[in-house]
Amino acid sequence: MKNYRGIIHNHSACSKEGCYPLSVLRQRWAAHLDFAAMTEHAERTSAEDYASYLQECEALSDERFRFIPGLEVATESGDMLLLGCRRFICTRDPMQVLDEAAGCFILLAHPEEGKVIPRVLEQVDGLEGWNGGHMGGYMPPIDWLSSWRKRLPSGKFLTGGNDIHKVDPKRKILTLVRVDQHPGIPIGEKAILEAMRHGYFLTTNGIFSVSADGHVFCQTMKVSDRFLFKACACCYRLGWRAVNACLQLGGSMLEAFGIDKHRRTRLNRLIRQHL
Ligand SMILES: [Zn+2]
Repeated sequence: MKNYRGIIHNHSACSKEGCYPLSVLRQRWAAHLDFAAMTEHAERTSAEDYASYLQECEALSDERFRFIPGLEVATESGDMLLLGCRRFICTRDPMQVLDEAAGCFILLAHPEEGKVIPRVLEQVDGLEGWNGGHMGGYMPPIDWLSSWRKRLPSGKFLTGGNDIHKVDPKRKILTLVRVDQHPGIPIGEKAILEAMRHGYFLTTNGIFSVSADGHVFCQTMKVSDRFLFKACACCYRLGWRAVNACLQLGGSMLEAFGIDKHRRTRLNRLIRQHL
């Protein structure tokens, strides 16, 4: 068994302006990661662009580092993450997504928005339990995870992702995937996704870890059901949301003062790199 270090739920310049191209992300990530599962917004790209994107992912992958291509599709059941997706899928109908994305590792992203349709949840691989962009990367939502753990159908898993958009934060949330592979054989996308499908992974920021079934640990101590940790997690999440709202408000004010988009993005990046 070997642990492969990766990040899931990442966006590149393919689907959202202001992000980094894959070649830059490869330079930044390959030294300390084994893989990055990409999830480009289907609504902000096209079938043609996605086809060339797939080729670029392949060209920039080797035995040291691998891009796993994928999509984030906005549906009536919230955003669906399709890891390892090789065809372009863009529809609001979650059942059609399930149909067309057969064989992919499918997650329901940021379920805290309350859009998850139980019938869809029954058929995906799991939920994104910890989203660094929406909840902050320093502390998982321990209180929220414990309620989801009870409602999760058996065989479904909870994952974590950084949801990297305009900024490339310090990639706090890592996914460690345990793959049963013989030494010397390079890492493969199929092996990683297959291991995840069996729940052989751990989400961690080095201090807190979340098991695939949603239990939270602080170093080695289990804290899933400790009131103090739940209360801290709740406060942290609310604080993170307030910071995000302030940044958005600040951006609107700078726009009103005539600061152009390029400069606003640079300032936004500078601040977020330090959060
Ligand atoms: Zn996203």
